[in-house]
Amino acid sequence: AAAQETNKTYIIGTDVTFAPFEYKDVDGEYKGIDVDLLDAIAKDQGFNYELRPLGFSAALQALESNQIDGMIAGMSITPERQESFDFSDPYFESGVVMAVSETNDGITSYEDLEGKTVAVKVGTTGAAFAESIQEEFGFELNTFEDSANMYEDVLTGNSDAAFEDYPVMAYAIQSGLGLKLTMDPEPGDNYGFAVNKGQNAELLEMFNNGLINIRANGTYDEIMDTYLGDTS
Ligand code: GLN
Repeated sequence: AAAQETNKTYIIGTDVTFAPFEYKDVDGEYKGIDVDLLDAIAKDQGFNYELRPLGFSAALQALESNQIDGMIAGMSITPERQESFDFSDPYFESGVVMAVSETNDGITSYEDLEGKTVAVKVGTTGAAFAESIQEEFGFELNTFEDSANMYEDVLTGNSDAAFEDYPVMAYAIQSGLGLKLTMDPEPGDNYGFAVNKGQNAELLEMFNNGLINIRANGTYDEIMDTYLGDTS
């Protein structure tokens, strides 16, 4: 047979609880938009991968230290991150939004956060945004490793608000989580697949090529429809 590349299996990190992008289903399987996009792109491009739900900040660290080859985790493409990572073309539009308990009518703007406590997830753009306005509006921060515990802290009343990605927060609220949104999301956020800077260029190229193909053949829309239905 002709010389063939070793059949490399790429290790891809993801978040633990970030529905509808990645979440553990009742059968213990990981499901979601990111999971299905990666799978469809891998099939289209003919590469093998193994998905590792490490948590968001743990996956960032694993990628930066080359313990994993890539990351798909509803990860926002930001100028700061572009110094450490190479991103694919954007595949989903997002934005940070503030959520409060559905029984809380006292917080309808950032001004109302004075003297309050805000829950954030470590290493996220939501945490970075909260930090960027913390001094101006005078609130405390509670930091969590994952989104489920961050929401729980608001539901129990320990934190007054949480900063989370709009599509994820809206999906959770639609699924019955007792939180609500009182403001529009911050604009200008897009998700991308990431590799460590200067590493795995071939994987990044395959992701981009596969993304073009699954957009063209309808698979991308099918995946969005599966998880977002009429809201997409
Ligand atoms: N989009 C946000 C970020 O990149 C949150 C991602 C996540 O929590 N999985 O920081």
